[in-house]
Amino acid sequence: MSRNIHTGRKTRIIATLGPATQSPGMIERLLQAGVDVFRLNMSHGSHREHAESIRQIRRLASKMRIHAAIFCDLCGPKIRVGTLAGGAMELKARSVVVVTTRRVTGRDGVIPSQYGALHKDVKPGDRILLDDGKLELKVLSVKGRDIECRVIYGGVLTDRKGINLPDSRVSAPSLTDADRRDARFALEQAVDLLALSFVRSAEGILALKRYLRRHGGELPVIAKIEKPQALEAIDGILQEAHGIMIARGDLGIEIDPARLPMVQKELIDRARAACKPVIVATQMMESMIDSSRPTRAEVGDVSNAAMLGADAVMLSGETSVGRYPLQAVRYMNAILREAEQWRQRSPRCGDDLDMRVAESPRRALANAAMGIARDLRLLALLVPTRSGTTAMVVSAFRPSAPVIGVCPDARTARVLTLNWGVIPMQLKPAEIADWQRMSRIVARRLGLSLNDRSLAVLSGFGKSGQKDQPVLKILRF
Ligand code: PGA
Ligand code: MN
Repeated sequence: MSRNIHTGRKTRIIATLGPATQSPGMIERLLQAGVDVFRLNMSHGSHREHAESIRQIRRLASKMRIHAAIFCDLCGPKIRVGTLAGGAMELKARSVVVVTTRRVTGRDGVIPSQYGALHKDVKPGDRILLDDGKLELKVLSVKGRDIECRVIYGGVLTDRKGINLPDSRVSAPSLTDADRRDARFALEQAVDLLALSFVRSAEGILALKRYLRRHGGELPVIAKIEKPQALEAIDGILQEAHGIMIARGDLGIEIDPARLPMVQKELIDRARAACKPVIVATQMMESMIDSSRPTRAEVGDVSNAAMLGADAVMLSGETSVGRYPLQAVRYMNAILREAEQWRQRSPRCGDDLDMRVAESPRRALANAAMGIARDLRLLALLVPTRSGTTAMVVSAFRPSAPVIGVCPDARTARVLTLNWGVIPMQLKPAEIADWQRMSRIVARRLGLSLNDRSLAVLSGFGKSGQKDQPVLKILRF
């Protein structure tokens, strides 16, 4: 539980589990290397396999006495190519092919779409991108269920590759039947969070939350930002979602990739201003799928994400199918620590983000706590938090002192492993109620000496338990 105060790393590391890392031995080594949060990608693997991963993560984290969150990543309305005869088809540049929603096996320039309404959503001139944008078609005309297209960039297309429609309004509902099954699985397994792919508006998040409630549960939902429509609807999405993931893989296909760095910075700032955690994902250490060292560009990308203020960075193929999953995590850990140390030293890199403290007593106090932590060199900021929200608010201000999210509930403690700089700690309600006692327990667990040191307690509810009457108290020992 004291891991973060020792490593000093504040930006969180998320690892996607897969064939390369599902074994208990690998999960244990990933935890030791510094993984804070695990992603289970519902696009791959069976429920049985994921259930076993969940069991192992819980067992090992508890053995190591650390908290680690688990989230299931739901596919959402991801559109895919159907089955092709022989598993592959060559598309020649400038030739004319047909994409169809008829239920056929693909052959001779006819490409089946698994998504049945495709012919209704596209219009002449729209691009149809295949296989992560490697192949590009342009719609010439739509005849019934057949979409006639010109091949702009050709190549070999294989079964079940993804389809992106950057120019079309996709009418597919935000939750598919598979997502509903996966969401019920996540509830049964009591994972900590969900992520939803291809979110287009706040309504997608609300629909998932309604579905969870109907099945007797509730889970925080991370919105994956990978559609241009999501950028337009970001304020509403940030209001309803627990946090966001900048899903650069699909986002970089759906918008001009030249815009990606600025969009990334803007999304990070927006999420922080809303006091919600933000994850930077995809291709961070891509070359490490096959290579034992990252490229210089990848080192720069991870470092930059930390300097821009992201809460977490995520590994996908690097840890799910890569040859060097542990090395990828270790490099990430080292890069993040260097970036954070530099940021702390350099005034130029200090934050210029307007956190809009006005009219929120809790934010105003979090802002004050940040200054006080720096001026008094506070040992720690203790944040008793039931739902985790107050700890999230304090974290969003990026204070220099460690933020200890003290909560009575283990689930809240795990969810907080996603937030920048928060060290979650589970204590009994009676231990939390007495702040002197709470401070001593926290110090003991973290191996800190309170002698002649000060710390601050920031409580969102105040002593009387009233909301909107937050309290900030400095305790001197
Ligand atoms: P995915 O999402 O890995 O599920 O596609 C992340 C991304 O698109 O970047
Ligand atoms: Mn994606």
